[in-house]
Amino acid sequence: MSAGTIDLHTHTTYSDGSATPEEVIALASSKRARAVAITDHDTVDAIGEARTAADRFGIEFVAGIEISADYSPGTMHILGYCIDPESVGLAKTLGHLRESRETRNPQIAARLRSLGFDISYDEVAAVAGNQVVGRPHFARVMIEKGYVASMQEAFDRFLKKDAAAYVEKARLSPAESIILIHEAGGVAVLAHPYQLKLASYEEADRLVGELAGLGLDGIEAVYSRHSEAERASYSQIAARHGLLVTGGSDYHGSYKPDINIVTGLGDLAVPYELLQALKARAASQSRPLHVGEVAQGLS
Ligand code: AMP
Ligand code: ZN
Ligand code: FE
Ligand code: FE
Repeated sequence: MSAGTIDLHTHTTYSDGSATPEEVIALASSKRARAVAITDHDTVDAIGEARTAADRFGIEFVAGIEISADYSPGTMHILGYCIDPESVGLAKTLGHLRESRETRNPQIAARLRSLGFDISYDEVAAVAGNQVVGRPHFARVMIEKGYVASMQEAFDRFLKKDAAAYVEKARLSPAESIILIHEAGGVAVLAHPYQLKLASYEEADRLVGELAGLGLDGIEAVYSRHSEAERASYSQIAARHGLLVTGGSDYHGSYKPDINIVTGLGDLAVPYELLQALKARAASQSRPLHVGEVAQGLS
């Protein structure tokens, strides 16, 4: 008998997912998941509703967050688990990050208009339900207006880093992201490391070593878009640095239509044991790290 599968990476309508917190819980339950985490970008607003729904469905709920850290040339996202959604420091910093998004987002709309598209920021915000607005919402409006055929085309041609309508937003450094999560009582995990665009195993190993030195707790080795070989090598790198392994789908509903909750692209099966280790690590965080204790962020 399997001890059950879990999904530690999902998004809701509070950020750029298409399913409400309750729908995410219901879907995970229908796939017989034993536990699910919600990890919206820059917001913890889904957590209350999700917990209530999880109690009703008899599924274990993990409070999460996904933070976009400053890193180049790829993308670095850091997941926080078992965070206290009431943390004052977390609320304050997430507020700043959302303000920076709200500065960036109308600039993306202006760039799209200068490229000849008839798109107002108000329509994009309306599609997002006036919650945290992300680039997938811009892509959705572009599809609805017939400007592109798919999310992927919208990103590849206009919205991805360095594309014509891309605009930077303020980000925390990796060190600041890890500290923020620790100060909210959580465990910090490097999300989907393939998006870092590292050239080799050795480079990944070196970067993970640096992040471990900053207090990183784990790596999301088991991920929808990781191959079996990537899952194995990131798990090995985690073990080399004494880090946890976690796993999740990165479910976004219709915003990433190929990714299913719990099962990812079809082959994902994240074992419950990974959550047990994660909870043990959260319980043993004796004391949060403080800013002055971390020498400096990554350059
Ligand atoms: P934002 O937080 O507004 O910068 O948007 C981040 C969201 O855009 C995440 O859900 C990503 O998965 C998605 N995203 C970022 N880059 C790409 C890409 N190249 N292709 C598809 N989706 C992407
Ligand atoms: Zn997203
Ligand atoms: Fe991410
Ligand atoms: Fe995500």
